[in-house]
Amino acid sequence: MTDEYDLIVIGGGSGGMATARRAAAHGARVAMVERDRLGGTCVNVGCVPKKVMWYASETAAALERAADFGFSLEQAPEFDWGGLCRARDAYVERLNGIYASNVERAGIDLYRGTGELRDAHTVAVDGQPLRGRYILLAPGGRPSRPDIPGADYGIDSDGFFQLHEQPRRAVVVGAGYIAVELAGVLHHLGTETTLTVRRDGPLRGFDPLLRESLAESLEVDGFDLRTHFVPAACERQADGRLTLLAEDGQRIEDVDTVIWAIGRDAATADLGLERAGITPRADGTIPVDDYQRTEVDSVLAVGDVTGNDFPLTPVAIAAGRRLADRLFAGQSDSRLAYRDIPSVVFTHPPLGTVGMTEPEAEAAYGADQVTCYQTRFFPMNYALAPQAVKRRTAMKLVTVGAEERVVGVHIFGEAADEMLQGFAVAVRMGATKADFDNTVAIHPTSAEELVTL
Ligand code: FAD
Ligand code: NDP
Repeated sequence: MTDEYDLIVIGGGSGGMATARRAAAHGARVAMVERDRLGGTCVNVGCVPKKVMWYASETAAALERAADFGFSLEQAPEFDWGGLCRARDAYVERLNGIYASNVERAGIDLYRGTGELRDAHTVAVDGQPLRGRYILLAPGGRPSRPDIPGADYGIDSDGFFQLHEQPRRAVVVGAGYIAVELAGVLHHLGTETTLTVRRDGPLRGFDPLLRESLAESLEVDGFDLRTHFVPAACERQADGRLTLLAEDGQRIEDVDTVIWAIGRDAATADLGLERAGITPRADGTIPVDDYQRTEVDSVLAVGDVTGNDFPLTPVAIAAGRRLADRLFAGQSDSRLAYRDIPSVVFTHPPLGTVGMTEPEAEAAYGADQVTCYQTRFFPMNYALAPQAVKRRTAMKLVTVGAEERVVGVHIFGEAADEMLQGFAVAVRMGATKADFDNTVAIHPTSAEELVTL
């Protein structure tokens, strides 16, 4: 009996789409199963609409600074939340269309529906069986909800992108990428916003310099950050307003929108993993080896569902493409090394990080082997601004050994998002502090500080 497909992919998001297209480019017969909109989390309810909202909120911040450069805005600019959301959604729809034509052009058979495993070579799409030599699981995840009374009165990041009216008073609960990004967007677009974190601050695990700089910047922005706030319940009052209660009795009242941003759960509950002989971890993620193989030879997994340390779009894409090269182009050692992966958090200003933090480097190499170089300064775009609104840029290089190999670069400040990519190349290549020093600066920029430390 011949298998109908070389590869059946469950999930048309970042990882599934990239793997399917690369496999098809190598001549494989590929089926893709998607139950929602093509492009997955990133395109529909993640990176893309988030970045549009971030640009809008950066524009608001820039308008506030326009007077420093001689502009007089006769009247306060008006902001149309609904208009922005409609334009954003139309853009995302165009991307959905582009993905659909890419799939068609690649000769991939697209099945619209929910895919579940029947066995190690069979996927059923709403009951219809498909046979495949390999099956790729790329179902991504969904926002988590806290297990507390009244949790359903709140929304999550998916719900944020469905808000067609601007919240007047919002509370964002959580301490990771999504919490700080959504809270920042809301605050800068004029919603009265509180960010609650259950420990001492957001972005635990990031380099201390970035965390301190973010905290300072939130203060400059007049941001309401509540630390040590462990949510215990969300109540709806008679007038429809919400009250958020913490375990220690703290209350936040008169809220119209509570947003849970406390992490994401793997979308594996309805995948039928057990029928293929796969046992997920307790949190629902699927264990894979360095080559994206599950415990069953014919079934592979990429992206957020694998519970890797970097649940990011480019990581899912890179892992998927390398997997397709391995399976269908004879590149037997092709795989993604999950290290030195850069990422940016779109705060205001943004922050970027690649490689080890100072504490991580000290733990790995010993404190006596680690030398850090850091700087903090007001970037030149604040040259004409009043002192009270200036947000400092901060940068750190973490180096190890006598040769001072750069194992970490951490940047907080305007343009950090665009600055980091090139420095990530340098870290991947094993650059030393001397290599940074030997690179001539670009003046006047913030980035030049990293080669003149
Ligand atoms: P997904 O993109 O989630 O795709 C999974 C797909 O599988 C979905 O389309 C789903 O409908 C489908 N599916 C699931 N189960 C089934 C089934 N049984 N049958 C059929 N179809 C199924 N990452 C960045 O790199 N940069 C960012 O700026 C960024 N911002 C983000 C902002 C937010 C608010 C969120 C939520 C995430 C963000 N991410 C960002 C993370 C990024 O979106 C994910 O890491 C990435 O989308 C993971 O890709 P994936 O292929 O694993 O899964
Ligand atoms: P994260 O895992 O990054 O952060 C969630 C945090 O919320 C936890 O670390 C925890 O922080 C806190 N938390 C967990 N449970 C509770 C609770 N019950 N009450 C209060 N706080 C709680 O998840 P996100 O949802 O923010 O993002 C998921 C992933 O998506 C990210 O890790 C990132 O990889 C990706 N992403 C990337 C973006 C980008 O590249 N710019 C943007 C958005 C998402 P603590 O333990 O410190 O309290």
